[in-house]
Amino acid sequence: MNDVLFRSSPQRSTPVCLLAALDFLARGWSPIALCPADHAGVDAAHERLCNAPGGTPLWSWKEYQQRLPSERELHVYWNRNPEANVGIVLGPVSGLVALLFDGPQGEELRRRPGSEALPETLEIMGAAGSRRLLYSLPPRFVVHPLALAVPALPDGLSCLAAGEHLPVPPSRRAGGGACIWRLGRSPDECSAAPAPRWLIDYLVSEDRSAVPTPWSEAVAAPVAAPQPVEPAAPAARPQNGEPAVMPVPRAADPVPRDAAQDVGPHIIVLSAVKAAPPQWLWPGWIPLGKLVVLDGDPGLGKSTLLLDLAARITRGLPLPDGAAGMTGGVTLLTAEDSLTDTVRPRLEVAGADLDRVHAFSSIGEPNGGNRPPIIPHDLDVLRQIVKNSSSRLLIIDPFLAYLGGSVDSCNDQDVRRCLHRLAELAEEAACAVVLLRHLTKLATGRAVYRGQGSIGIIGAARAGLLVGRDPDAESHRILACTKSNLAASPASLRYTLEPVIANICRVVWCGASAYQADDLIQQPETPDERLMTKDAQQFLRTVLGDGPVAADECLRQAREVNISERTLRRAKTRLKVQSIKEGVGALGQWLWQLP
Ligand SMILES: [Zn+2]
Repeated sequence: MNDVLFRSSPQRSTPVCLLAALDFLARGWSPIALCPADHAGVDAAHERLCNAPGGTPLWSWKEYQQRLPSERELHVYWNRNPEANVGIVLGPVSGLVALLFDGPQGEELRRRPGSEALPETLEIMGAAGSRRLLYSLPPRFVVHPLALAVPALPDGLSCLAAGEHLPVPPSRRAGGGACIWRLGRSPDECSAAPAPRWLIDYLVSEDRSAVPTPWSEAVAAPVAAPQPVEPAAPAARPQNGEPAVMPVPRAADPVPRDAAQDVGPHIIVLSAVKAAPPQWLWPGWIPLGKLVVLDGDPGLGKSTLLLDLAARITRGLPLPDGAAGMTGGVTLLTAEDSLTDTVRPRLEVAGADLDRVHAFSSIGEPNGGNRPPIIPHDLDVLRQIVKNSSSRLLIIDPFLAYLGGSVDSCNDQDVRRCLHRLAELAEEAACAVVLLRHLTKLATGRAVYRGQGSIGIIGAARAGLLVGRDPDAESHRILACTKSNLAASPASLRYTLEPVIANICRVVWCGASAYQADDLIQQPETPDERLMTKDAQQFLRTVLGDGPVAADECLRQAREVNISERTLRRAKTRLKVQSIKEGVGALGQWLWQLP
């Protein structure tokens, strides 16, 4: 190897950080070039932007999160700047996770007893007594996308995993001197120990508040031994300077520790469950990790509305009511709309980052044909797609179109069993799953029960939404809440569909509306009915103008002037006429009065 090195740079000795980088590469880690601590040889742009001299990547390193660099690439980088420091990309590509102990609190934590806490492993001594411990990850490990978003580790301790890098020896530190391996803890003297169980739990859990660190009282009982992990095999030596081919970590494989727990009943003692507030994709409207139902008649823009929401999520934009948005991917199952002429244009006019939207359109079959995805049959595939795309929103439009033949959409038990598995997917992937439904043709009943299919569907949902026409404006629609298990129902929102190109509309949000979901489903369906309701409203204003009147009397008088009960009740809703009970029990009677 040295021959090769000296041939490529005969004039000077090989930089020590390049030698280290080549050594790391041989161990299967992904090394990158970082800026020199004194910024020797860096360009003006770097100088201006760098806020961590000695620890900032000099060149784009994103692809080294996915694959290892080749030896040739490393030579090129250090040829450009021989003074460069060296870092290691953490996470699945290197199979490493780092624990950083900083300051007096970190030192205190590191010394606190607990045999499970910190198995001996590779250790780097940084500035001012700081320590960096490197542990190995299980093969094909998946770091939960939210794992690092809401750190719950104690002060003085932090954790670096996927998407981050760590300066390693013999890099020079900004304050002078080099960071060094602790005696007996260099890669030549020991290998990275398997990450302790609590750390694995921390990395896979979506619920940051429920993850105990080894030093909290919550872990009084001994934890199971960590999964045995093969020491990282040295990378295949790159041939002819070509990039070393490494298996790309398969993000969707389940973490092996769950496999043994799958069979038989799972009993959880509630005292062992830590309470945590719900997380929201859209606060008050769409909880994260749960099932949500969106009902409405065709033509009101249900799908367009959800694509508007999807677009906001792909870019982390504020939500329709102004709440702060979350950034993530979106997975679509869309049975009725064409991806080319409808879905993509709608997403485009809504301003989506199309790279973050994944449509699960069909499944290739062994005979060469394709079939649409089926729920629950294809839930495992769907789970992989959702996880691989870091989706925070999964839209199933319309839900009933995807139910397999084995599921009777009107059978409560069938539906509940199917939705239970879908709810598990939602929770596991920390993704909101929104099921779209059309309304039944029934003209009465509460809004929450008006969606098609079994009542079990809305039963399994943690939130129910409905779109309807705005009674006050022909061109406007209203999004309202029919069910909200996790928060108070939010105020309804008005929107309109603004044509942008041909038949493609974008959603324009117009603020709050006083109408509730139940007001929206009793809308007159024809212009005639609308006119009749107006008449009935006038009738009610007259009859109730002098004070409360018995409901029976109102209905009787209405019949006399040919106003049907249905029209009268619709008018009553529109006017927000109140029903009050006078007297008790069988002797009591209902009175209507104007608000
Ligand atoms: Zn720098």
